[in-house]
Amino acid sequence: MNIGVIGVGYVGLVAGTCLAESGNDVICADVDEEKINLLKRNRIPIYEPGLEELIARNAKEGRLKFTTDIDQAIIDSEVIFIAVGTPSKEDGSADLSAVYEVARRIGKNLAGYKLIVDKSTVPVGTGDKIEELIKAESHSTNFDVVSNPEFMKEGAAVDDFMKPDRVIIGTGSDLAYEVMHRIYEPYVRTENPIIRMDRRSAEMTKYVANSMLAAKISFINEMANICEQLGADIDSVRKGIGFDRRIGFQFLFPGAGYGGSCFPKDVDALAQTAEESGYHGKILKAIQEVNQRQKRKVVDKVKKHYGKRINGLWIAVWGLAFKPRTDDMREAPAIDIINGLLELGVKVRAYDPVAMEQAKRIFGDKIEYGENPYQTLEKASGLVIVTEWNEFRRPNFQKIRQQLLEPVIFDGRNIYDPKDLAKLGFSYYSIGRQPIKPSK
Ligand code: NAD
Repeated sequence: MNIGVIGVGYVGLVAGTCLAESGNDVICADVDEEKINLLKRNRIPIYEPGLEELIARNAKEGRLKFTTDIDQAIIDSEVIFIAVGTPSKEDGSADLSAVYEVARRIGKNLAGYKLIVDKSTVPVGTGDKIEELIKAESHSTNFDVVSNPEFMKEGAAVDDFMKPDRVIIGTGSDLAYEVMHRIYEPYVRTENPIIRMDRRSAEMTKYVANSMLAAKISFINEMANICEQLGADIDSVRKGIGFDRRIGFQFLFPGAGYGGSCFPKDVDALAQTAEESGYHGKILKAIQEVNQRQKRKVVDKVKKHYGKRINGLWIAVWGLAFKPRTDDMREAPAIDIINGLLELGVKVRAYDPVAMEQAKRIFGDKIEYGENPYQTLEKASGLVIVTEWNEFRRPNFQKIRQQLLEPVIFDGRNIYDPKDLAKLGFSYYSIGRQPIKPSK
């Protein structure tokens, strides 16, 4: 099948590449010339495990192409995936200008039947608007607009696309469903379901999924804060609730808050759509408020530990990306945490295995950048852990102690056992657990 993917970001690049991997001829189009030029030279603009080799193979075999000629990509494709960004506007609603721009272009270039698949996360009713725009430009009804929300996780995006838990296809058209089913069949060979529903419900499903996941994180974070307050231990509580099959363990890890390009913007966008429809909800706003507060928790602990002598101290930060296995720093808790530390008069040196370039764009010379985890600790009076990269889980604690001026760790992801850290001579602060003083 000839497939066009418009918008070559995290979603479009992964989706386009995986669609080529199953034998389709895919053309990926984007307005960003620099990005397309990189991709044409087999260089990839993002960090995503496993993606580079897939792109190289499919490009070499001629099934995967990149272009800035969006009109031509539309003309050449039977199926067009829209995967452009839908960032937050000031009021929290989704900015749909890129989606609408692509819809108009599709309308201008429509000839013969085309299937338009919206993969961007968009508010309920956007599919109707895309349809209207295409109709207005093309004066034709020889097309279908399907909602096909994407659930991939950055850091495991290739796997998630190749083996999705489920595929959602929102359409009232049997023909559109049949084509979509054919496209997705290679990825659901283990019988994971392809679920058909109406387009509005498909659009809503994506927002509900992300809001539910964000709610779980904010819920466990709030419970962790109450544990700290009352002298309980969130680790024990987690175990105590997780074996209840109605609750489970997944996504119930307390920490320094969620970030990324999806949860914050999608929870806000759903709250805003609900508001505009006349429904004044409470939960979505609370999820975001708890998260905002959570991102400052680590900063509060640092402030309390050092007291009046904080001004001018160096603090080392491990982890900048909003989660491990990605270089994405959009809405990353590290941004709020580092800014909070700087406001306290602290000097920051930070390290991340892959997000250093992104961090330099955000912080410039406001902070220093470490060459490796241990060099980052030089002259520092404490270490703050923000992202739970695997390489931070079992570090050389002797080396950490030697490098730090004071043996203090503020762990925003609860990756260490407090008892171990006490034995190793550290003061240790984590989330939802009592602070630990060195036992020797
Ligand atoms: P991104 O910002 O990484 O990429 C968007 C791309 O669209 C950019 O390369 C940009 O240049 C391009 N673009 C913008 N306007 C364009 C236009 N008019 N024509 C052509 N290209 C244009 O975004 P992303 O993270 O890939 O997200 C894309 C959509 O998918 C969003 O709606 C997002 O909410 C959703 N989504 C993202 C993820 C994720 O993990 N990142 C997961 C599921 C869903």
